[in-house]
Amino acid sequence: MPQSERGRAIYEADRRFVFHSWSAQAALDPMVIVDADGCRVTDADGRSYLDFSSQLVYTNLGHRHPAVVEAIRRQAAELATIAPAHANEARSEAARLIVEKAPASLEKVFFTNGGAESVENAIRMARLVTGRYKVLSQYRSYHGATALAINATGDHRRWANDYGAAGTVHFFGPFLYRTVFHARNEREECERALEHLEDVIRFEGPGSFAALILETIPGTAGIMPPPPGYLRGVRELCDRYGIVLILDEVMVGFGRTGRWFASEHYDVEPDLMTFAKGVNSGYVPLGGVLLNGATAGFFDTRPYPGGMTYSGHPLACAAAVATITAMTEQHVVENAALLGREVFASGLAELAERHPCVGEVRGLGAFWALDLVTDRDTREPIAPYGGTSEAITRTLAAARDAGLLLFHQYHRVHLAPPLTMTPEEARHGLALLDEVLEVTDTYTTTGA
Ligand code: PLP
Repeated sequence: MPQSERGRAIYEADRRFVFHSWSAQAALDPMVIVDADGCRVTDADGRSYLDFSSQLVYTNLGHRHPAVVEAIRRQAAELATIAPAHANEARSEAARLIVEKAPASLEKVFFTNGGAESVENAIRMARLVTGRYKVLSQYRSYHGATALAINATGDHRRWANDYGAAGTVHFFGPFLYRTVFHARNEREECERALEHLEDVIRFEGPGSFAALILETIPGTAGIMPPPPGYLRGVRELCDRYGIVLILDEVMVGFGRTGRWFASEHYDVEPDLMTFAKGVNSGYVPLGGVLLNGATAGFFDTRPYPGGMTYSGHPLACAAAVATITAMTEQHVVENAALLGREVFASGLAELAERHPCVGEVRGLGAFWALDLVTDRDTREPIAPYGGTSEAITRTLAAARDAGLLLFHQYHRVHLAPPLTMTPEEARHGLALLDEVLEVTDTYTTTGA
């Protein structure tokens, strides 16, 4: 509970009137944030925190970027809103810029209000184009919280919503550190994961799948960059069985991994790509589906049976135009790559050497996960799958006390700072994390 009068009023109204996502309401104790600038946020008592989470991995330009704020202000004064059927400058220009940055085969944008709606519409398009129903998606994935997107999701959040999953089939992707294929190296993991996927397709009915959806680099599920050849192998299987390949780049798109889109690291082009979050740094809700020529062309003569009141909202699109322009002019994607190469890769390797609680460090660009364990040999996670523990709760509390905001899930903490962060700020964050991990170490078999 904040000390200041204003902070207490905000907190009390929140607890009384606001219903929060994913939570048992009575247990909540939300931090009151009153200000944010660049890579820092300030709470109601004036404490400043370094944001290593980009909130939910979306403030890619940091807070209060002047060009984006000004673009929203100007758009609000000129044409705050207009129905989706009308063409308008902000939407046309946003679509043009997004297509320009996207993989070459993607030609058109269908705008939505966020990630889950993008996933819903991409799957709907795939079903219409193929005339098939079933959808393949990975365990260890997150695709959103609407009915179909949560069914496609491969983490525990699906379980409570699992009443409309007909036709959604899950498979394991490659993840050597916690391999389900008993692989000893990346090559074996890749080969076995592809064999497993083909077996699932064959045993579920090769002619029944409309779409295969996966995160180019699974994000919330643990930041697992796929081994070389995996995504090319998935692309080949999709081609062989006539399945539409949807890459979900809601979290990794728009520079997060040091390229505009993560698919560029793997030289693979999807039929459809979903995006949201970083497209406009989350200043106004926006998402979308990028369509290749064949999919877009399918709907040239057949009406597309889907839409939203706010599809391509001018305020959101104006923010996207300003975001993409600023990212280009300020070389923000290059900065994300540099942070990965020159700060996080070596800085986190050093932390892993010093702290027995770090089982594995994974990531690239401004997108890193620490797999926290009680024992490096057994790789026992410090919190169970789908759950929490005293070790992770105390780790997160220590981060907050140190003035550091981290993204976390189960036994992992993720570092996903704004892509505008300077190397000095990132190094400072790692120094704070070093202190925080001292607390986590006390829960290990060697550090206790
Ligand atoms: N897809 C991915 C890969 C995501 O990470 C998320 C959200 O974190 C979503 C979809 C859902 O996006 P939204 O919360 O905007 O609906």
